Amino acid sequence: MIHKVIIIGSGPAGYTAAIYAARANLKPVVIEGYQSGGQLMITTDVENYPGFPKGIMGPELMPLFREQAARFGTELITKDVTEVDFDSKPFKVKVGTEVFETKTVIIATGASAMLLGLPSEKRLMGKGVSACATCDGAFFRNEKLAIVGGGDTAVEEALFLTRFASEVHLIHRRDKLRASKIMQEKALKHPKIKIIWDTVVDEIVGKESVEGLKLKNVKTGAITDFACGGIFVAIGHKPNTQLFEGKLKMHNGYLVTENKSTKTEIPGVFAAGDVQDHYYRQAVTAAGSGCMAAIDAERYLENLGE
Ligand code: NDP
Repeated sequence: MIHKVIIIGSGPAGYTAAIYAARANLKPVVIEGYQSGGQLMITTDVENYPGFPKGIMGPELMPLFREQAARFGTELITKDVTEVDFDSKPFKVKVGTEVFETKTVIIATGASAMLLGLPSEKRLMGKGVSACATCDGAFFRNEKLAIVGGGDTAVEEALFLTRFASEVHLIHRRDKLRASKIMQEKALKHPKIKIIWDTVVDEIVGKESVEGLKLKNVKTGAITDFACGGIFVAIGHKPNTQLFEGKLKMHNGYLVTENKSTKTEIPGVFAAGDVQDHYYRQAVTAAGSGCMAAIDAERYLENLGE
């Protein structure tokens, strides 16, 4: 059997693509991955997804996306794709020994926030540890906050956090920021932002939620206690594109799509959501781009005479 649309990934982009493709009668198959639902599954309250005026928990929102996709006949496969072959048509998407043949593929494998890798970070994730200031900043009104990283994201998120926090301490492992000059200047002159140089987080402290940090100065080795109500990790994201290395054009690891569309350079292969967007990275923009990918796939199939 040759499928019309196979969607790889199951965050807001993947499921939204499925909802649109299923309603267009394309009988999509979503290969969700063993850990379905994407990044929202590791967040707590989502207050900025339109349609939920009281907010909703990330792990409650994603099953709703899934249910809506299933309602219109999407086939859901909760396994990981192991290989793709875009060299000849139909395209092949492999899941272990199983091979799916398809006319179009929508890639929505997302990105993962890079984390520090501390056991305490894992334990307190969503309980004061966050990897997304835009998502979680508003929960920390009048608190003293820490943010880790020295790139544009860290500085941008530090600036964003100043809207809520009483003070924001940017913890950076070197004595120079990586962020662009203009962002650096904004951070350096902001009255609420203080920079802690040459320092890494050794441990995040707190029983039920974050109460503070143990900081280590990398030059002197000195460990100090730092009290704070929350810590934001902003040390970069890694797009989940390992499957496509050497097969699709990438920029900094992100899939490259044609301007204002989800088309990759291979006709019939589309990319949506965080896997091709390092800039907006919101659930709602990912969902929007999933919708675009389904429409792009539908038009591509129409042009094939389907
Ligand atoms: P970057 O890779 O640019 O920066 C990551 C930062 O985290 C670096 O300062 C790095 O330190 C630090 N870091 C990495 N790993 C660790 C670790 N294990 N422990 C402590 N610190 C660590 O990622 P960004 O997400 O900031 O930016 C990604 C891209 O997006 C960039 O090209 C950026 O310019 C762009 N961007 C642009 C924005 C804008 O223009 N408004 C906004 C946001 C992003 P070190 O410096 O020592 O390597």
